[in-house]
Amino acid sequence: MSGPRFARQLIPVLAAALLLVGCTVRIGSSPGSGAGTGAGTPSSGGAASETRQQDEQDAIDVVDAFWQRHFAELSRAPYDPPRVAGGYVGEDGPPCGGTPSPPGNAFYCPAGDFLAWDEQLMEAGYRQIGDAWVYVVIAHEWGHAVQARLRATQVSVAAELQADCMAGATLQGAVDDGLVRLEPGDTDELATALVAVADEYPWADPSSHGDARERTDAFSAGASGGLRACV
Ligand SMILES: [Zn+2]
Repeated sequence: MSGPRFARQLIPVLAAALLLVGCTVRIGSSPGSGAGTGAGTPSSGGAASETRQQDEQDAIDVVDAFWQRHFAELSRAPYDPPRVAGGYVGEDGPPCGGTPSPPGNAFYCPAGDFLAWDEQLMEAGYRQIGDAWVYVVIAHEWGHAVQARLRATQVSVAAELQADCMAGATLQGAVDDGLVRLEPGDTDELATALVAVADEYPWADPSSHGDARERTDAFSAGASGGLRACV
């Protein structure tokens, strides 16, 4: 099989280890706990990291290629991709508008128009869910970058669910375009990754992400209906 592919099995065994806060993703029971760094995993080491980093690069390439092709469906403006600041570790992330980047999180910074994520977050999800994790996180944050490029009237008040919808449209669209390959049923498996990062309560205000059902539904709506289902 050539090209990027998703994990055959997505097993959301995170057992409440993942929480989404703000538009950020936090892993571990407390900020900076370092959960999921691979401690105690015999196979942890350079090879696994290189694989994850390759998957991250593949995900960036796939998501960007999708938007290069499809941004025009939402806007007449030329597509100008966000910068990918990529991974950081702990407190070492790029600041956003004077605010330090949050340890253990992934985020889009409107002020600097870049995406960034904590390597520990990516590594933990990569190990516990699989390579689809990095695709979901990057496609979701890229969705926020796209929101920043749309007219205000196009951006849903439920911005997080809209980003999930865009992530679904992006990943299924990338499959349809032949940018990435996945097995039948993997779209559902990708959606189940969202269960791991859902709020425990339904969507209530613009800062909330929605519960597992809402996030899965939003992702699936984008996957089956494309970008028009999201905007
Ligand atoms: Zn978000």
